[in-house]
Amino acid sequence: MKIKNFQVKKQKISKILIGSNNKGKIKEICDLLPKKIKVLGTKDYNLKSPKENGKTFEENSLIKANYYSKKTKMICLADDSGIEIDLLDKAPGIYSARWGGKKGNFALAINKVYKELNKKNKNWHHKKTKARFICALTILWNSKKYITVVGKVEGSISKKKRGKNGFGYDPIFIPNGYKITYGQMQYSKKIKIDHRYKAFKKIRKFF
Ligand code: IMP
Repeated sequence: MKIKNFQVKKQKISKILIGSNNKGKIKEICDLLPKKIKVLGTKDYNLKSPKENGKTFEENSLIKANYYSKKTKMICLADDSGIEIDLLDKAPGIYSARWGGKKGNFALAINKVYKELNKKNKNWHHKKTKARFICALTILWNSKKYITVVGKVEGSISKKKRGKNGFGYDPIFIPNGYKITYGQMQYSKKIKIDHRYKAFKKIRKFF
C-alpha cells in the first residue's frame, strides 16, 4: 500500500478519537493534545484492534486510523510505534507489541530482546547496541483525507532493565545524549523528547 499525504485544510480539530488500546500510548497522546480538545477512546465504542498487516509503521498507523474512523465516523488519531535494534536486523520493529504475546506482557518482550541479543553475540553488551524508537502518527478525516508523519529517537540498549517508569521497552532504551533509560526518566521529561513527541510536533498545527 502506498501512503500519500493529501493536502489537508488547516481546519482546527476540536474532537478526536484516539485509535489505540495501549494505555501507555493513550496517556502520552492525551498529554500531548491541547486540553481544550475533546478526546474519545476505543473503550467509548467497545472496539477491538484491527489486524495490523502493513509492512511499515506508516502503513499500520493508517490501517488503524481507517479502521477506527470507519467504525465511529470520527476524526481519528492513530499511532503505530516500536523499537528497532540494529544487531537484531531491526527487530522487533513493527512486531514490537507482538513480542509481548497476546496479553501484551512487556517483561516477556524484554526477555526476548535479551535472549535474541545473546543468541547473536554473547558479548553484545561490551559494545554500544544501537537502537531507535519510531512512531508513525496518522490523523484521518476520511479515507481520502489523512496525513501520516514519523518521529524517531536514536539510542542504545541498556545492559539490563533499569527504571520503573513508562511502559513497553522503556526500561531498556537509553536515548543518545542521556545516561539513563526512558524507564528511569521522569514521565514529564520523556514525553518532551520521545519519538511520539517528535511525530506529534509535525501535526500539532491541526489542533
Ligand atoms: P503498536 O504500535 O500498538 O503495534 O505497539 C507498539 C509497541 O511498541 C508497544 O506495545 C510497546 O511495546 C512499544 N512502544 C511504542 N512506543 C513505546 C514507548 O514510548 N515506550 C516503550 N515502548 C514503546
